[in-house]
Amino acid sequence: MTSSAVLVVEDDRSMRKYLRGALEAHNYAVTEAGSLAEANTATAAQSFAAVLLDLGLPDGDGLTLVRAMRAAASTIPVIVISARQREDEKVDALDAGANAYLTKPFATRELLARIRVALRHATQPASDDPVIRIGPFVIDRARHEVLVNGDVVHLTPIECGILALLARHAGKVITHGQLLSEIWGPRGKEQTHYLRVHVAALRRKVEQDPTRPRWLTTEQGVGYRLRDE
Ligand code: CA
Repeated sequence: MTSSAVLVVEDDRSMRKYLRGALEAHNYAVTEAGSLAEANTATAAQSFAAVLLDLGLPDGDGLTLVRAMRAAASTIPVIVISARQREDEKVDALDAGANAYLTKPFATRELLARIRVALRHATQPASDDPVIRIGPFVIDRARHEVLVNGDVVHLTPIECGILALLARHAGKVITHGQLLSEIWGPRGKEQTHYLRVHVAALRRKVEQDPTRPRWLTTEQGVGYRLRDE
């Protein structure tokens, strides 16, 4: 496999050095940027397979970069690495279009896993296929039917919509807001408590132990994720 180019946007020199070492040890080619301005220069000069992004940068908020990239229809995976632990910070980052959020300090293993997941999904074309296959699931949106390990499970249209949306972005946390607006439309924000009810019902149908979900996991206060490994 050829090495993948990763842009590391981080103003803390020692953190940059650590990230470069960890990534280069796994055959990623690393470009460093210490500010938003340097990041803009780097992204204009070269294309990257993924971006690691600190939020607190000397010339502004890292989310400015994500928003600009998504506004320009860039689908390059962005993994936010931040010391900010608040749930609303995570929600903001994911809603802005970040693929994942890692809170400092984090294990190298976890960072590498997030990059792997992000790269895997970035290389798969966005699927218009009505049938989605992920983990033990085969999801047929048109029929509102799901196979779990080969067994047919009947879902309501909303349950199927939730599962299909999570499956299309498997491995990635989808925020409550993203789920609500996608499933219920612009008025979805009023449905927050129903979302929890539907997810609980969905888990009872697709999880072996709904109280300890193996696949459909909760990111407390942020959203849900469908694991794909
Ligand atoms: Ca910083």
